[in-house]
Amino acid sequence: ATQGAGEALRRWVRRVPDHPVPGVTFLDITPLLGHGPAFRQAVDALAAAVAGLEFDRILAIEARGFLLGAPLAVQLGKGFVPARKPGKLPLTVVRQAYELEYGQAAIEVHRDAIAPGDRVLIVDDVLATGGTSAAAAALVERLGGRVAGFAYLIEIAALDGRRRLGDRPVRVVLRA
Ligand code: AMP
Repeated sequence: ATQGAGEALRRWVRRVPDHPVPGVTFLDITPLLGHGPAFRQAVDALAAAVAGLEFDRILAIEARGFLLGAPLAVQLGKGFVPARKPGKLPLTVVRQAYELEYGQAAIEVHRDAIAPGDRVLIVDDVLATGGTSAAAAALVERLGGRVAGFAYLIEIAALDGRRRLGDRPVRVVLRA
């Protein structure tokens, strides 16, 4: 059922060649977000994809991760933890730096957003190299939480981001 739902959603994802840099094909989900039934189907498909995983909270990554992670949290009755770019969160944070294809980046969460023993599902729109998600997992574990798994609308399978995610469950709706 999940795979069927994923296939139905494929037409709502636009492929934009050479964005943001030459050689990268950007997967643009704004058509999906802009179409009510497609947006709902995407959230439903993510909910189906994570069925069976046990977690207390969803942690999603700024900015496009929020667009799927927050409605998924509401639908499943879970808490939501925003992982943000440096300098945005107002109180004490933990920061994790990571490598991008070109250069460095970092994400932060509030230190009190995750308590020891919390089980956390990490959500983003696209799994590419896995670097961002691996950094998010490191933040969860530095705060004593446990990573229950990862969920994505789209996996760019050729980049094999899964190899950065250890042996935790990885659930995806669509493969690009
Ligand atoms: P990565 O850390 O390489 O797995 O990249 C994941 C992050 O970058 C996610 O937050 C994605 O939204 C974004 N991203 C990476 N590659 C693409 C792409 N080809 N199209 C759309 N978003 C991408």
